Amino acid sequence: MSTIKDRLTNIWNELGNAHLVAVAKFHSTERIQEAYDAGQRIFGESRVQELAQKVDKLPTDIEWHFIGTLQRNKVKYIAPYIHTVHSIDRGSLLTELERQCERQGRTAPPIRVFLQLHISGEETKHGFSHEELMDFLEKYPIHELKHTHIVGLMGMAEYTDDAAVIEQQFEALHSTLMELQKSYFRDDPLFCELSMGMSHDYPLALKHGATYVRIGTDIFGPREY
Ligand SMILES: *Cc1c(COP(=O)(O)O)cnc(C)c1O
Repeated sequence: MSTIKDRLTNIWNELGNAHLVAVAKFHSTERIQEAYDAGQRIFGESRVQELAQKVDKLPTDIEWHFIGTLQRNKVKYIAPYIHTVHSIDRGSLLTELERQCERQGRTAPPIRVFLQLHISGEETKHGFSHEELMDFLEKYPIHELKHTHIVGLMGMAEYTDDAAVIEQQFEALHSTLMELQKSYFRDDPLFCELSMGMSHDYPLALKHGATYVRIGTDIFGPREY
């Protein structure tokens, strides 16, 4: 039977220059520690409470990434220590992150954030529509952020076996990134990241320019609870 280390090694070998977010939601701290001992340092969680319970039990040099739907009233719990948030889908979340960092005197570097775009046809997925994104970029003071920094775009492709559909959605996200690099983020070289690809579709995401892939099941197996 393959170990967490074997599975991580297989994925690391496919990454090129991209980064791996090991998605640990519903997995125990023991399994996360096992991945850490194998050399993995970036871990992703999608629920605030679960994350808070794990953080204190694990090494302090872990880079914690929040990847799930974030409620505004829970932002305060992650603001002091979160490294990256992949799931900013409205301006009010950014405003609240800024406010909590200020109130709590965050001294760590600015939180890196991704704007999540709705790239699949599925109603249930979150994210800005293209129109909402343009409206946000037009109105929000994106270059005056103090405690956060917008580093790129995140998206989830449709859950389907049709590779052409998935590739089309990833490529659309890639071209939106390039478009914004020439417009709203012209003077910001840090705006260059693409967070896309999960266990079932990450090779396609890498093919279309992903710089972060978020993988859970392929590392840890089926979720435990
Ligand atoms: C759970 C989750 C993942 C990882 O999914 P797997 O299929 O287990 O690899 C990636 N991104 C987000 C936003 C998730 O919620």
